[in-house]
Formats: sequence, structure tokens, C-alpha cells
Amino acid sequence: MSEKVNIPDDLSDFMKKNPTADFNDYLDELMVQAFIKDVEEKSKDAEPFGLFKTKAMSVVKTDPRYWDCECDENYIHDKSIEPKCAVCGSEHDECSDSRPNEIKLFFKDYKEDSDE
Ligand SMILES: [Zn+2]
Repeated sequence: MSEKVNIPDDLSDFMKKNPTADFNDYLDELMVQAFIKDVEEKSKDAEPFGLFKTKAMSVVKTDPRYWDCECDENYIHDKSIEPKCAVCGSEHDECSDSRPNEIKLFFKDYKEDSDE
């Protein structure tokens, strides 16, 4: 693994012992993303990581105005312009919303909502 983010060694144990814990303060977004990736590679269907992932994904910010289709490239679409991908046929309501850091790569004039 060549992750730059350090995942705490006890995170797996922590999650097994506290599957419903509210750990949003315990993690930052980069750590969560790295951990999800790591878990997916090692144990695709291990519990309680399903629940962990569901909760972890809520930590990862997304922008509801954009969505990711199934394509390997050019997979970010503006819902108001492209509710369906012409290449892979995915529709926005069956796909996840896009992450601001990825949207920026596709839409150069993209600005995150600053309502926080
Ligand atoms: Zn597509």
C-alpha cells in the first residue's frame, strides 16, 4: 500500500466493537476514503464494514448537483444538463453524487456551495 494517509491500527477493532458509534469526529475525510479503499481491496463483503462504509460515506462530502456515472473517464455530470450518461446509459438517480474535489477536475469554473 502506498497511501499517504495513516489509518489508525485500531480502527477496524474500534468499528467491530462500536458498529453504530458516531465516529465522524474521530475521522477526517481523507482517512475515511483511504480506509474504504483499503477495506474494499482486502475484504469486499466483511461485516461490519458494510455499515461502516455507509456511515463513512456520509462523512465524505458530495455535491447533489453533480453525479458519477459508470464510465471510467468523464464520469462526472451536471444533473441539470445531463441526467443520463449517453456513453454508459446510467441515470443520475441510480448513481451516487460527485465529490467536489473530483468535480473541480472536470468543471474548471466549479465552485463548492459555501453554506457551512
Ligand atoms: Zn457514463
